[in-house]
Amino acid sequence: MRYISSRGDAPVLSFDEVLLTGLARDGGLYVPESWPHFDVAALRDMASLSYAELALRLTHPFVGKAIPKAAYAGLVARSYAGFDHDPIAPLRDIGGGVHLMELFHGPTLAFKDYALQLVGRLFEHVLESRGERVTILGATSGDTGSAAIAGCAACPSVDVFILHPKGRVSEVQRRQMTTVTAPNVFNIAIEGDFDDCQDLVKTLFNDTAFRQDLRLSAVNSINWARIMAQTVYYFFAALKLGAPDKEVSFAVPTGNFGNVYAGYVARCMGLPVKRLIIGSNRNDILTRFFESGVMETHEVTPSLSPSMDIQVSSNFERLLFDLFDRDSERVAAAMVKFRKSGRLTLKTKRFRSACELFAACRLDDEGTLAAIAREHEKTGILLDPHSAIGVHAAHQLGEATEETPVVALATAHPAKFPEAVEQACGTRPQAPVSLAGLADLPERFDVLPADVDIVAVYMREHATVMDAMNGSDRGETEEGGQGAGEVQ
Ligand SMILES: *Cc1c(COP(=O)(O)O)cnc(C)c1O
Repeated sequence: MRYISSRGDAPVLSFDEVLLTGLARDGGLYVPESWPHFDVAALRDMASLSYAELALRLTHPFVGKAIPKAAYAGLVARSYAGFDHDPIAPLRDIGGGVHLMELFHGPTLAFKDYALQLVGRLFEHVLESRGERVTILGATSGDTGSAAIAGCAACPSVDVFILHPKGRVSEVQRRQMTTVTAPNVFNIAIEGDFDDCQDLVKTLFNDTAFRQDLRLSAVNSINWARIMAQTVYYFFAALKLGAPDKEVSFAVPTGNFGNVYAGYVARCMGLPVKRLIIGSNRNDILTRFFESGVMETHEVTPSLSPSMDIQVSSNFERLLFDLFDRDSERVAAAMVKFRKSGRLTLKTKRFRSACELFAACRLDDEGTLAAIAREHEKTGILLDPHSAIGVHAAHQLGEATEETPVVALATAHPAKFPEAVEQACGTRPQAPVSLAGLADLPERFDVLPADVDIVAVYMREHATVMDAMNGSDRGETEEGGQGAGEVQ
């Protein structure tokens, strides 16, 4: 499979190159040149596969010749072997034709594990076979750095540096990161807030010499391999609920448009997806877009669902590419304009066609707490704030029936957000063993001021790539690696 940039002015790459590259040189996002297609017979044939077997069958066409099939099968199998629940992505009927898909059975109890467990292993395989190393750098507001660390901790060809704002992530979130004491993992507590962390990361990516010396790379949500891995649970759920003989809709709490875009890709691959319903928190750029056809950035305000506190939905550009009939010049023009003015308007015809598949609704914090309480009262199930927004969206816009069920994606375990859940319904979620045990483990992190020179010196001192320089050049972007460091 070959990959092209949504803006049409970057080299065509193979899967292994796309994996390591992130943002394309022209500032665009890489997408497959064509969609692999599974017909009705092929879908029927998948109904009894395990999660890992299904992942292999669905994603191998995207990988193509970049990794030998037997080796790839091993990577996929090992990626899901450590999950704490069989069948990996279980469904619970919560009534009214709505089914909750629990995507929190990986090592850090949030859905990002479903992609990052595989992505870490892919990095290791590709780098090892090339004899290369990279340094992964990212900033996290708490919930997402841990999945990147868990995905890369066992990868000797990768050093991971994750910046978090000191004292501003919850204890659980901090311990999920800092108790990983693998020698290639560097947790840095920055004396500042999340914006300071993100600014440091952006500045370091924009420093060409530094970026090249350390072979900086990122595993943020624009990485194609993450999207690829996320398509699997859409198939897994739909097949369990009767696809290909039934259409299935999905309700997805999303900010960056990453998770719901994977549902769109699943549909392009042949899965009968009826609707994709987006749930936003008060940072509702996507909902405002699907109500008006105008995408406009506002300030980000913190919410109870911090992993969706996002101003720009990066992955939306990939959908735009298809809405513009893959006309990369038009995408490039629209994105440049958006970058300048903070505004993007879709013409009526294209907007209507997008709205045939997508719908969206928003829920503020008060509504989120009420949704958690309502679900708890009705079914006894505890939802984390992100998942509650998805369930609300499913009830609001899903039009669920026996014939067309709706799957609401539960993206985090409620015990990751115990305060919000307790505030909503008076019950504190019980921590699974993996979380409860964290309190007794030793932590390792260093505290640094929000000073880019000091962070750079620290990284040069600790990154092992500095001892084993290699000479390849990758992922240079004219836009200076914008967004490259956001571990969302
Ligand atoms: C990252 C995250 C999301 C949002 O995912 P997108 O990439 O914006 O689609 C939702 N819920 C949780 C718990 C997350 O960690």
